[in-house]
Amino acid sequence: MSESGTVDPHLQEVHRELAASVRQFGERHLRAVARDEKDPVARAREVGALLGAEGLLATAVPAPFGSADARSVLIAREGLAYFSLLAEMVFSAQGLASQLIESAGTEIQRRRWLPSLASGAVLGTVALAEPDAGSDLSAVRCVAEEDGPLFRLSGVKSWVTLAGGAGVYVVLARSPGTEKADGLSLFLVDGGADGVAIQPIEAIAALPVGELGLAGAPAVRLGSGTRALRQVSRSFEALRAGAAGAACGLGTRALDEAVRHGLARRQFGRALAGFQATKMAIAGTYSELEAARSLARHAAWLADAGSEEAGRAAGAARLVATEAAGRAVDRALQLHGAQGLVRGSTVERLFREARALRLREGTIDMVRLELAETILKENR
Ligand SMILES: Cc1cc2nc3c(=O)[nH]c(=O)nc-3n(C[C@H](O)[C@H](O)[C@H](O)COP(=O)(O)OP(=O)(O)OC[C@H]3O[C@@H](n4cnc5c(N)ncnc54)[C@H](O)[C@@H]3O)c2cc1C
Repeated sequence: MSESGTVDPHLQEVHRELAASVRQFGERHLRAVARDEKDPVARAREVGALLGAEGLLATAVPAPFGSADARSVLIAREGLAYFSLLAEMVFSAQGLASQLIESAGTEIQRRRWLPSLASGAVLGTVALAEPDAGSDLSAVRCVAEEDGPLFRLSGVKSWVTLAGGAGVYVVLARSPGTEKADGLSLFLVDGGADGVAIQPIEAIAALPVGELGLAGAPAVRLGSGTRALRQVSRSFEALRAGAAGAACGLGTRALDEAVRHGLARRQFGRALAGFQATKMAIAGTYSELEAARSLARHAAWLADAGSEEAGRAAGAARLVATEAAGRAVDRALQLHGAQGLVRGSTVERLFREARALRLREGTIDMVRLELAETILKENR
């Protein structure tokens, strides 16, 4: 794995130590996890327990209960995605759930959930999207009806990371009779509650995702329940540099696989790495990933410094990094020739996994629109 970042001025000693810990964790636990594509949710649960035992999930949870700053989140996601996108998804779901509980919850709710999320005693995730509400979350139809001090949630949530594996779901639902963003609130649903049903989604890669059916499932409202969409978009924004980091990690793995294969595979009497075309591809991929990594770290550094420019820097980083990762896996597969198409080879898996990076956590088209709006607004 590349040792990039050892002298990066955006990082502090604590971030370098974290990078080393994640790398050791990956070497020890994740190489085998990544090769096994059976029952992704069960494996995600196992990985969650390992991440918790190692103390790494505290990095996903904001202080004071955890130690998440934007740079730590980025470093952890980059390091995990290098070995296993599944592990990175467990970490980022924990982060998003924690972020929402921290920003929207009451003090009692923070104290109830965040220590358990930081230790890994509980795995969390968010259930926002629905079959008819993806990019446009104001179209969410899941209904929350009051039932004494509780609420009863009914509806279907789709593409939920860790569906069936999470102990707590942060769910977006609306009060009966409301429309659009008005009436939307966030709720906490216990994974083992009555009225919760799971339908796994079989995706292009072994991703731990599924549909969450809610039939009068008991829930508590997170905080006062106001301005839910704003809380969601702020939380996505807070984690966006980390999403860029995940793309850099996956892309770097593809680059390392390409270099390894280029040096080992011989054609026309020499290693593939000896051909200029191979060198061009390696240099191009390396440069694009380094550019993306610098942008991502700068964005995270801006976020930790409380800069107003952090949001747009993170948006730019996510665009550049996910595109760079897409090209990295494509070039790596091309260099592997037909071997790259064989089910179970590392580049074949990376090729399938990389596609999700441009769709989850809001598609990159939506990030583009948001970024452009910010730039245009400043110049109107
Ligand atoms: C691996 C993975 C994990 C996920 N995990 C979770 C999770 O844990 N919790 C959760 O709630 N959701 C999760 N999602 C769902 C994810 O957030 C949605 O897939 C995403 O927001 C896009 O919604 P959609 O797929 O319905 O696409 P749509 O909204 O239907 O969009 C389809 C296409 O149209 C484009 N488009 C839409 N509107 C516009 C516009 N105005 N202008 C230009 N282009 C537009 C989109 O960019 C996209 O390319 C996950 C998705 C994936 C792939």
